[in-house]
Amino acid sequence: MNAHDISQQLSDLEWITEPTRVHKLSQDFSWYSPVLKRQLADKTAQAVVRPKTEQEIKEVVSLCATHGVPLTLRGTGTGNYGQCIPLNGGIVMDMSAYNQVLWIREGVARSQTGIRLTEFDKIAKTHGFELRWIPSTFRSATLGGLYGGGFGGAGSINYGPIAAPGNILKVRVMSMDKEPVVHELSDAQALLTHHTYGTNGIVLEIEFSLAPLVEWSEAMVVFNEFDDALNFANDFATGAGYQKKEVAFMADPIPGYFTTFASSLPKGTHAVILVLAPSSCDPMKALALKHQGEVSYLKSAQEVQSSNRTLIELTWNHTTLQALKVDKTLTYIQSGFDPSKYMEQVRALEKELKGEVMMHLEFIRTKEGLINCSGLQIIRFTTEERLNEIMQIHRDHGVQINNPHVYTLEDGKAGNKLNPEVLKLKDQLDPQGLLNPGKLRTWSRPLQQFNA
Ligand SMILES: Cc1cc2nc3c(=O)[nH]c(=O)nc-3n(C[C@H](O)[C@H](O)[C@H](O)COP(=O)(O)OP(=O)(O)OC[C@H]3O[C@@H](n4cnc5c(N)ncnc54)[C@H](O)[C@@H]3O)c2cc1C
Repeated sequence: MNAHDISQQLSDLEWITEPTRVHKLSQDFSWYSPVLKRQLADKTAQAVVRPKTEQEIKEVVSLCATHGVPLTLRGTGTGNYGQCIPLNGGIVMDMSAYNQVLWIREGVARSQTGIRLTEFDKIAKTHGFELRWIPSTFRSATLGGLYGGGFGGAGSINYGPIAAPGNILKVRVMSMDKEPVVHELSDAQALLTHHTYGTNGIVLEIEFSLAPLVEWSEAMVVFNEFDDALNFANDFATGAGYQKKEVAFMADPIPGYFTTFASSLPKGTHAVILVLAPSSCDPMKALALKHQGEVSYLKSAQEVQSSNRTLIELTWNHTTLQALKVDKTLTYIQSGFDPSKYMEQVRALEKELKGEVMMHLEFIRTKEGLINCSGLQIIRFTTEERLNEIMQIHRDHGVQINNPHVYTLEDGKAGNKLNPEVLKLKDQLDPQGLLNPGKLRTWSRPLQQFNA
């Protein structure tokens, strides 16, 4: 039985089998990388299913496991690493209709994983809470996709990455078996299914901590000097009294790519983008003055809402997207600096690579609670060799590269340091290796002969 036979057998479920739509739903944002684009553009599933209930998910899983058909989970396909692209055909399971918030109480929520983050936040707000981290793709990305493939986002300056202890409390996860088994995993065990590209279990529900709701303002501060902008961003990020959700640093010429905000971004300036509490706006202005900065844009939460335009969509990997809209030859890297010397590293790399590498930094807290920078530097792409050299130069400076030009988990964010417990869980929850096959390079079982 292949994917088409399964779609016929489970004909009560919502299926997409028209090849163009199937191909579209088999792709993600890996085209940002000229390398992944070449490797993945033709990969496609045979069919896409969009289950609405746990029972429907179970039926699909059971038939795939019985007949050796690969199953790749999809949120809304905003990942960058080809995370939800099926390498071996089979079925893509689009989780976006499995989207109920189960409960919210005392700063904790439990939700099905297909919910879009923006929908979740709308509901959480009625309880006086909000998500602790939102990726800049919050309008379309799902909770399960963020959990399965993401890192964090706006809010990570306070709560660290998703993986910081205390953020994720429990997950309900289904095994890839003929008779699927559902497990409830807590704390560190639960996190074994985080950022594993849906390879070691189908995450059905997540229980996670929330942040108290704040009516966030948004600001841009511009500077003539790189160091002034960097110092301001760092002072604001580290200053304990400044209440913030986002601190992003964009070196010239990046602000020039934000064409819709051109009137607030004079040519040749470096910009710091902030999401901050109203009470921190005046202290922020004083700090900007101290660093020779000019507040060129400041909007209240109400103004942001009524314009439906948020600066968050200039940050994180939206920065790259805005740049690519203007210049398609650009690409990017993702990097993690060393919290004990990130300012030194930033300055040294700017000196060495200015012109070829455009510095974009997101200030965050690490899992351990230290302030640090995460880089999504924009690169003037020439060749794959030079791209690799640039990444090596970063490593030589002690900066960790989360390579967005590879599709296996080990070669990307895990940096070859994949927790062996992740693989053990894979043995337990996906013994045939049918979940998103090909993405876990070090999983030692022989590849199956897939019945795609
Ligand atoms: C412009 C742009 C900006 C971005 N900004 C950010 C950012 O600020 N922060 C950040 O962390 N990321 C960012 N990303 C990456 C991506 O958008 C996020 O990780 C996003 O949350 C993914 O959600 P999704 O629903 O699109 O997931 P998808 O891309 O559909 O899936 C991501 C991975 O999760 C797996 N998955 C999906 N559902 C489940 C499930 N129920 N159980 C197990 N695995 C599952 C998929 O198989 C896949 O491997 C950005 C990407 C782009 C293109």
